[in-house]
Amino acid sequence: MKVLVHSEKRDLLLEGIGVARELGGEVICLSWEEDVLKYCDRLYYPKGDYSESKAVSALEEIAKGEEVDLLVIGGTKRGKEVAARVSQRLEVGSITDAISVSKDGGDRMGYGGRVLERLKFKRKPGVFVIPPGKFEKVKKESGDGELIEISPKSDGKIKVIEKKEKERGKVNVEEADIIVSVGRGFKKKEDISMAEELAKKLGGVIGCSRPVAADLRWLPEEHWIGLSGRKVRPKLYIALGISGQIQHIAGIMDSKIIVAINKDEEAPIFKNCDYGIVGDIYEVIPLMIKNL
Ligand SMILES: Cc1cc2nc3c(=O)[nH]c(=O)nc-3n(C[C@H](O)[C@H](O)[C@H](O)COP(=O)(O)OP(=O)(O)OC[C@H]3O[C@@H](n4cnc5c(N)ncnc54)[C@H](O)[C@@H]3O)c2cc1C
Repeated sequence: MKVLVHSEKRDLLLEGIGVARELGGEVICLSWEEDVLKYCDRLYYPKGDYSESKAVSALEEIAKGEEVDLLVIGGTKRGKEVAARVSQRLEVGSITDAISVSKDGGDRMGYGGRVLERLKFKRKPGVFVIPPGKFEKVKKESGDGELIEISPKSDGKIKVIEKKEKERGKVNVEEADIIVSVGRGFKKKEDISMAEELAKKLGGVIGCSRPVAADLRWLPEEHWIGLSGRKVRPKLYIALGISGQIQHIAGIMDSKIIVAINKDEEAPIFKNCDYGIVGDIYEVIPLMIKNL
């Protein structure tokens, strides 16, 4: 069996190689990082800068030339786009957000985490898109891999005119052990300082529901948790004034312990938490801070 692995993010690439090694067979990589050669059997190493377009044409060519059985692609925003385009070109199916993989197909959560979908590939090569942090990174170096330099073509449909670094905060909710998350139960932006104080006491970071980041723009996007935001798996997740709609739950269901504070005892979050406090965040948070 041959597995072709690609991600533009190193960590995710190593996770993808880990998946491929577990599946067995030959591990072939497409990467702009030369030193990952030590983890794979064959590395296709493109000249020039990375672009989605180049990744798509390289993956298509390698998949066809090598007659690979599976592709494992890191599920970043770019990776998802690349996977979709490659699947379309190869006329095969892809399993996005795969949580388990086998040579014939894999599983993923559906309907915001309510069902487990078991999917089978109809034809080769099957394409897996793996979420960040779900699988173990490869640890063992294989040592004697082959390096193949390539010059993939961009399809020329998109021309990069200028690149600007996006403004980012320092928070990485995906790797946090403790997350204190704020929802629309907060009346104004300044009140988030209460949650920040609680997070500081607990040694955690701040997360939020979609409206707080996308509509109110009180916090940058990297705090946004849920189906269309980041998927998190902390040891402790504290939801403050978050109703617990299915799209939010989809992003937090791998948390070890979920604590919810909401003044509405009927709020759906109470069906999805380990500990629930029916109360006003403006009363409960100061009490928590005081007692910590
Ligand atoms: C395609 C799609 C994708 C989506 N993706 C996401 C996503 O990734 N992440 C996400 O979060 N949402 C997502 N949503 C939106 C989601 O459906 C909800 O609208 C959103 O999660 C609600 O955010 P919220 O809980 O902060 O606000 P609300 O639903 O308005 O809930 C606010 C809660 O605060 C409580 N409250 C109010 N005042 C207080 C107080 N003083 N003390 C205690 N509790 C109080 C209320 O009882 C209420 O339960 C998505 C929706 C769609 C359609």
